[in-house]
Amino acid sequence: MTARILVVDDQPANVRLLEARLQIEYFDVCTAYSGIDAIEAARAEQPDLILLDVMMPGMDGYQTCRMLKSDPDTRHIPVVMVTALDDREDRVRGLEAGADDFLTKPVDEVTLFARVRSLLRLKMVLDELRYRQGETIGIPMATDPGEDFDAEASALVIAGDERSAERYASAMPSHVNTWFETDPGAGVAAINDETDLLIVDLATEDFDGLRICARIRSDAATRHLPIIAVVNPDDLERSVRALDLGANDIIHRPVDTGELNARVQTQLRRKFYADRLRNRLDESLEMAVTDSLTGLHNRRYIAARLRQAMESASNGGAPVSVMIADIDHFKRINDTYGHDAGDAVLRAFATRLTEGLRALDLAARFGGEEFVVVMPGAGLAEGRIAAERLRAAIAHAPFSLQSGEAIEVTISIGLAQAYPGEDIEALLRRADEALYEAKSAGRNRVEAARDLAA
Ligand SMILES: [Mg+2]
Repeated sequence: MTARILVVDDQPANVRLLEARLQIEYFDVCTAYSGIDAIEAARAEQPDLILLDVMMPGMDGYQTCRMLKSDPDTRHIPVVMVTALDDREDRVRGLEAGADDFLTKPVDEVTLFARVRSLLRLKMVLDELRYRQGETIGIPMATDPGEDFDAEASALVIAGDERSAERYASAMPSHVNTWFETDPGAGVAAINDETDLLIVDLATEDFDGLRICARIRSDAATRHLPIIAVVNPDDLERSVRALDLGANDIIHRPVDTGELNARVQTQLRRKFYADRLRNRLDESLEMAVTDSLTGLHNRRYIAARLRQAMESASNGGAPVSVMIADIDHFKRINDTYGHDAGDAVLRAFATRLTEGLRALDLAARFGGEEFVVVMPGAGLAEGRIAAERLRAAIAHAPFSLQSGEAIEVTISIGLAQAYPGEDIEALLRRADEALYEAKSAGRNRVEAARDLAA
């Protein structure tokens, strides 16, 4: 896994030391020697991770971290604070400034790389979500990962014995609804959609907590569930294994309430951020198959469904017909009443169209003032009845605009039934030719494509 890492320290010797170690592992390293430079470098270089010294003259690491985390351009970049101090107050202070993790100087190499790998994995998931979202709907991410700091959440503690379990549970933030299990099987089974966080006891002899971490990560339903592992401070090997198996964070025994609170907040904030990205992605996938003006399906979606229906018809299933409906003299509506009125007519038309459809019919806006209706199960005769009904429903009453004006609208419809082996383009071409005939014959009428032999 290669990545770009920004190393920040006021002592050039420290920078060089970390730089050399990271380069041996083929990381791409950029450097800064003060808080101000770090913020600038983070914006310009967009590193995947920042290793940030705490004690620096001028702006110290806490301040720098807080600024990085409040800037929309840099807040998604994980920050690991590197400190010579290692008491709980400093850790809590750093976590509250938004740091994702801590390393103590002199930096132990094994821990460094385990932490780096773990944070990079997480960032890759978030970047992928951010990227896919941007690509699908073409707008930049606006969600603030700092939101929902105190949102209600629920957590599960799996510990070896009740006393430890109760101790961890009581150290959780008050807005997190926490329950516990001492049986690992029952614990894993108790995880559901509502679970936001898992605390696993890796210091117990009663079960293998690493196995729980691995199981949670390998199951698709729980793959994104944040895990904080509790380990003995001297058990470096287990900490590294836990991070490599997918634990998101480590906390040492005995568990300090303030530190656990801060670590839980960090994990929850990240989870809610990722959840929100995923939800937005679902929405944008929905948008990718929907026409934004009318709410009807779009061309891409309807083509896929039409293909299925045509394959089924070709294989001896029910017939399928399509109609292409086009609003008559639509340009004249736009020219006379303006484009807003034109859009209003398109929306009102879509509503009337949807109301008149049979249960299985699918309607799409193909672009402009052209609409396509796929009618599974309909032969040409049924198709003609449906098309005639739609034409009459539109011509029957004018569309009234918000401005109070009423616009008379008529449509022309071309109709065609798919024949076995025909492809979509050929079918739509025949329907389009029929539409052209309806237009030339005076509009406000339905024409069916000539029979297949023609
Ligand atoms: Mg320093």
